[in-house]
Amino acid sequence: MTKTIKTDILVIGGGLSGCMAAINAADHGAKVAIMEKSHTERSGAAGTGNDHFWFYDPEIHEPRGWTIPDMVRDIAFDGEYGKTKGGLMDQELLEIVAEGTKAAVDRLESWGVQFKYDKIYPWNLQYDTPEGEKKYRIVPQFQSEWDTLNYDGRDIKHRLTEQCLKRGVNIFNRVAGTGLLTQDGRVIGATGVNMRTGEFHVFQAKAVILATGMDQWRLFKPRNGNWFNSQSPPYITGDGEAMAIRAGAEVFILQAVKTQHNGFQYWRNIMRSSPAATTCYPAGRLVNAEREVMIKHPAAREPMRKYRQNVEDSVAEGKTPFYLDWTDAEEEEIQYALWAYGNEGLCWALREIMKDLDIDFRTHMIELELEEPGRPTGGFLAPLVDLDLRTSLDGLFACSPIQFAGEVAAPTYTVLGWRSGEKAAEFVKDVPDAELNAEQVASEEKRVLEPINVDEGRTWQEVNEELNQIMEEYKKYVAGFNPPGKKDKMSLIGLQNTLDLLGKLKMVKMKANDPHELVRCNEVMNLIDVGILMVKAAFEPDQFKRGSWFLGKIEDGEAKFRLEPIRIKYPSKEDQ
Ligand SMILES: Cc1cc2nc3c(=O)[nH]c(=O)nc-3n(C[C@H](O)[C@H](O)[C@H](O)COP(=O)(O)OP(=O)(O)OC[C@H]3O[C@@H](n4cnc5c(N)ncnc54)[C@H](O)[C@@H]3O)c2cc1C
Repeated sequence: MTKTIKTDILVIGGGLSGCMAAINAADHGAKVAIMEKSHTERSGAAGTGNDHFWFYDPEIHEPRGWTIPDMVRDIAFDGEYGKTKGGLMDQELLEIVAEGTKAAVDRLESWGVQFKYDKIYPWNLQYDTPEGEKKYRIVPQFQSEWDTLNYDGRDIKHRLTEQCLKRGVNIFNRVAGTGLLTQDGRVIGATGVNMRTGEFHVFQAKAVILATGMDQWRLFKPRNGNWFNSQSPPYITGDGEAMAIRAGAEVFILQAVKTQHNGFQYWRNIMRSSPAATTCYPAGRLVNAEREVMIKHPAAREPMRKYRQNVEDSVAEGKTPFYLDWTDAEEEEIQYALWAYGNEGLCWALREIMKDLDIDFRTHMIELELEEPGRPTGGFLAPLVDLDLRTSLDGLFACSPIQFAGEVAAPTYTVLGWRSGEKAAEFVKDVPDAELNAEQVASEEKRVLEPINVDEGRTWQEVNEELNQIMEEYKKYVAGFNPPGKKDKMSLIGLQNTLDLLGKLKMVKMKANDPHELVRCNEVMNLIDVGILMVKAAFEPDQFKRGSWFLGKIEDGEAKFRLEPIRIKYPSKEDQ
């Protein structure tokens, strides 16, 4: 059975950015549909809640002498976050994000997400407001100025879903996008499959917005060995990226690198939330086995480099393991952080587990997972968009995944999603309907449904495991035993083997026993396509050139690569 839907704009992925895109496109008069693999009320990285949101408020920040260019410079280069991004930030898009954050907060607030309170605390930024007006709870984070709101973000996705429905957005939950439909290089729709019924969906649209999230989870072996014990949703598997690549869109490619720091984010063995980062502000301290403080305010991640040194010294002196320690905190500080836990990801579940096990922050320290330095991490790729969120293909917009345009966090995708909705709505006004190509649809249906139609084949888990093994080899050849960019013979032979193995893996038949497994098989097929382009890119000598984005696309079945200079609007203060 095939279902056909006609709409002006199709949004693939109903996460934070996708819902924002849909709402704004509808506000601009377009007929909008969302295709969402999970359920928009709880899907995506924000599905279990967010507790902090960085923003720029001219009324608060200007009097403190901090401008939008300062913020952009901080996030792109000079702040603790910027320093980790190797100059790869799109500053022009980031500026748009920074300028849009205050309006985004106002908008979310008008939809029932609480950001302002009668009471603020001594550890929040103190600022003046007219008598009786509620205030933001502002805390420090990565930037040199205090810019991050603590807020009641637990149900943010519910509120966004309500706004979509209010505007008549047609939401197709449990339908996973599988491919883009094109005509003469223009994107005119997409296909998907229902994860519960297996029904194939064909969407005809004048514009498509990719909003499937910034992750290619399950491409590489997870650090803790378990695909589904992860902070990011394990079903964000590079589907949007693979769809874009197959349709011929140009993508930005980042190769594997080695981690540079000893970081703390997780409780030991629990990778599902980040209770040792921003959320435990103000009282959660990170200490070594002798209760010497490594960092006082993990929220500020400041001074990151000094704290790494402290951690490394402690490791060298055997003062391990490390702990999250609240035992000296005031009761009000504990209550504040427990409130933040209630809003952030799965930290609320950690609170419940603590209750069950009789663990109390007032008396117990929690052991932390220490990220080892020098570990090769995976590569990444995403469509490159212009300032109007247009990809290189006519009719295809993207708000997530895209090149880096801010911290990979809620404000960036809230603002960019909103903008993509408006730009796509403007675009469709002048675009005539296109006729779907029946042959293309039939071939896509055959490709997508094959795992459920074949009599036998390997399970998606077997193929995914093998993909992980191959991509681990790729990481070593690129970032492991040779410095990045150095093309010794051994590494090139290794990379060629990796590519050959991926080519063979792509031909392997998988067998799905039900529609759920069918979607998992399709995720693995997508990850293989992403992996192949990433490995092909690794042969190119120019991929690590500083000051450029390394771009690739598939044209007439061939991978083509080029460099694009990164526009620097606000140079690092350190370079001036
Ligand atoms: C546990 C956790 C806590 C966080 N806390 C904070 C915080 O406090 N503050 C902050 O600023 N940021 C936080 N973040 C980050 C923030 O939530 C994300 O940056 C933000 O949600 C990204 O929005 P997005 O639209 O890019 O992706 P997502 O919100 O992840 O949405 C992607 C959507 O695409 C759907 N999808 C994927 N593939 C397909 C497909 N093939 N077909 C159809 N749909 C598909 C997914 O189901 C999902 O709904 C947190 C992230 C996590 C994981």
